[in-house]
Amino acid sequence: MYERSECKPDRAQPVKEVTVKDVRKALDTAKKIGLVPTMGALHAGHEALIQRARKDSEVVVVSIFVNPLQFGPNEDYTRYPRPLQRDLEICERNGADLVFAPSVEEMYPLPELTFVDVTRVSEHLCGAFRPGHFRGVATVVLKLLNIVQPDRAYFGEKDMQQLAVIRRMAQDLIVPVEIIGVPTVREADGLAISSRNQYLNPAERKAAPVLHRALQEAAARIRSGERDVAKVREGALAILNGEPLVRLEYLEIVDPIEMQPLSAISGPARIAAAIWIGNTRLIDNVEL
Ligand code: AMP
Repeated sequence: MYERSECKPDRAQPVKEVTVKDVRKALDTAKKIGLVPTMGALHAGHEALIQRARKDSEVVVVSIFVNPLQFGPNEDYTRYPRPLQRDLEICERNGADLVFAPSVEEMYPLPELTFVDVTRVSEHLCGAFRPGHFRGVATVVLKLLNIVQPDRAYFGEKDMQQLAVIRRMAQDLIVPVEIIGVPTVREADGLAISSRNQYLNPAERKAAPVLHRALQEAAARIRSGERDVAKVREGALAILNGEPLVRLEYLEIVDPIEMQPLSAISGPARIAAAIWIGNTRLIDNVEL
C-alpha cells in the first residue's frame, strides 16, 4: 500500500530515469506522418517532396499557406500565385492523404507576440537581404509542426538556407521531427523549378539558366583543384556578368551547416547565389 512516508523528499525517486528519446517513444503513434510544407502554386519540385513523403510515411500531409510573416513589405505577398484547385489535384495525384490550407486568421488568430529566431544560420545569404524572412519561416514551420506533429518533414535543397534554419530550429528546440532534405528539381536547361519562374517573360526565362551555369562553373573549378574562394567566385561572377538581364544580389561560398562564408575551401561547402532578372528574384545553390 502507498505510504505517506515514502513521499519524503530525501527518499523521493522518479519512477524511472528517462531520456528525451524515451519520452518521444512513449508518445509515438502507430502511424508514421510525413509533412510537406508549401506555399502552393505546386510544381515538379513540390511533387518530388510529396512523392518522397509518400514513400516514407503512412499518412502524407501537405500544407499550403502563403505565410505573410515571411514576406517583406515590398515583396510579392499579394501577387504570389494561389491556384488552390489545381494544387489540390496535384496533391491527390501524388498520393497526399490530407491537404491543410488554412486561412491567415487560422494561423495567426492573435497579433503574433512569439517568434522563432534562428540566429547565425539566418545571418548571411538571403537573411542579409530579406530581414525577418527566416524568422517568419521558422515561426510558421514550428506552428505547422505543432499542428500536424509529423514524424518527418520534407524541405527542398533549393532553399538551402531555409533547410539549414529549420534543421537547426528542430535541433535547438528539441522538436520531435526528422527533417529531410530533397534534392533540387530542375528544368531541362538547369533552371531550378520555382513558383516564381512564372513571373519571367520569355526573354527573362531564356536568360535565367545562367544562374545554374555560373554555380556549375564554380563547382568545376573546385573539381579541378582550385581551393581559393576568390578565384572560384571569379569564374561564376564572370558568367553572371555576361548576361545583361542579370542583377547580382549575392554569390557566396558557405559551410553547409551554419551558412557562414568561407575564406578557403577545406571541407564540405556550398555555393549559393541570388539574382534579379527584371522584377523576379531567383536563388540557387550547388554542392562543392
Ligand atoms: P515553397 O512553396 O516555394 O515555399 O516551397 C515549398 C517546399 O518545396 C520548400 O521546402 C522548397 O525548398 C521546396 N522546393 C521548391 N522548389 C523546389 C525544387 N525545384 N526542387 C526541390 N524542392 C523544391
